[in-house]
Parts: sequence; structure tokens; C-alpha cells
Amino acid sequence: MINIVLLGAPGSGKGTLAKKLCPEYGLKHVSTGDLLRDVVASGSTLGQEINSYITKGELVPDALIGQMIKEVLNSADAKKGVLLDGFPRTIPQADMLTQIMSELHTKITKVFYMRVELPLIISRLVNRVSCKTCGRPYHLINVPPKKAGICDDCGGTLIQREDDKEDTIRSRYETYLKKTQPLIDYYKKTGSLIEIDGAEGVDKCLLEVRPFLK
Ligand code: AMP
Repeated sequence: MINIVLLGAPGSGKGTLAKKLCPEYGLKHVSTGDLLRDVVASGSTLGQEINSYITKGELVPDALIGQMIKEVLNSADAKKGVLLDGFPRTIPQADMLTQIMSELHTKITKVFYMRVELPLIISRLVNRVSCKTCGRPYHLINVPPKKAGICDDCGGTLIQREDDKEDTIRSRYETYLKKTQPLIDYYKKTGSLIEIDGAEGVDKCLLEVRPFLK
């Protein structure tokens, strides 16, 4: 069984890589960002509270994420293996993950750290749109849809995330440096960290990652 963590700054390409890897290896894609956006879309009081963190580029409190991730990892479709995209993002979350995995008698197989510099992150995220229906990501300049605003695959509407504005991207990056970057050393110490170049795009990342998943 394979359990993967994708580690990297916002815009490093975690979600795009996840969408290719998960069908190929039969993994469940767990994006805590997507799960949180679903709660926000429900319009509940909790959703409003979560949205206030997301729009400021801050992290949602660990306790809330812990509850969410526990439920997902215990679900039946997580039993074949998971790809965690955007979790863990803090040392306490990583400790929590180790604990949950050991309770489930499994462990993290590989942690791929996707290295990308800030200028590329900004240009990627300000140009990012994705399909509201199937989630396919586009880059308005490098990978534009054939018809503006419409998904090539399913005809769904393309939307831009509210937190993909330059000011918020910079706050998210600061949060990443402070809270998430320490996880690189954390996983280096466990011997499970593999660094890949996230700047070249998803096909190159796939070539770098596949040999470690045999
Ligand atoms: P993402 O889609 O991964 O870029 O996440 C969007 C936003 O959701 C982040 O900027 C955080 O506010 C929040 N978020 C996602 N994952 C986590 C997490 N593991 N811990 C705390 N906040 C998170």
C-alpha cells in the first residue's frame, strides 16, 4: 500500500500532480484545501469561520483539520492508499498524522517535496483557473482552455479562487515559510523525503516521482 504526502508552497503544483498520480496508482486524493472549500460553500457558521482564515492567507486551526483528516483516513476508500495534498502543514499536524497512521497500522511511504521559487508561484497562481465541475486546472497563458471560461474536458465553468490574488498569495507564502517549511527537515529525519523540481511542470514531476513508487 502506498501513502504519499505532497509537500510544497502554494502553487508548487501539488494538486496538478495529484490529479495525475491518483488514478495511475489507485490512490484517494485528499486535498484539505478542497475539503475546507466544500465546508465554506455550505454557507454554515463553521464555513464562514474557515473562510476568514483562508481569505487572510492563514492556516485553519490544527484541531479542526485533525478531526476532518481522521474521518477521511478512516473511510473505506482510503484503505487502498492515499495521497495527501496540503496536509500536514504544521509540525503538530505531522505528529497527528503519524499517530493516526499508526492507529490504522499503516505509515507514510514517501514525502515528495516540490521545490519552486516565489516569482514562479505568483505567476502560476494569478493565472490559475479550474473547472467548477471536474476540478481540472488551467493556466490562462501556458495551458489555456480552448474556449474562454469553459472546461475542455467536461464543459464546466472555469473559476478563479478568491485567495489567488497577489496580496493573499504573498501572505500564504509567508505562512508557508513560517509554519510548513520546517516539515522538510522533519521528514528528512524520517528518511522518507524526496526533493523534486516543481518548476518544470507536471510531466517532468511525474518522471521524477514514478521510480520511487515501484
Ligand atoms: P490549498 O488549497 O491547499 O492551497 O489551501 C487553501 C487554504 O486552506 C490554505 O491557505 C489554508 O487557509 C487552508 N488549509 C488547507 N489545508 C490546510 C491545513 N492542512 N491546515 C490548515 N489550513 C489549511
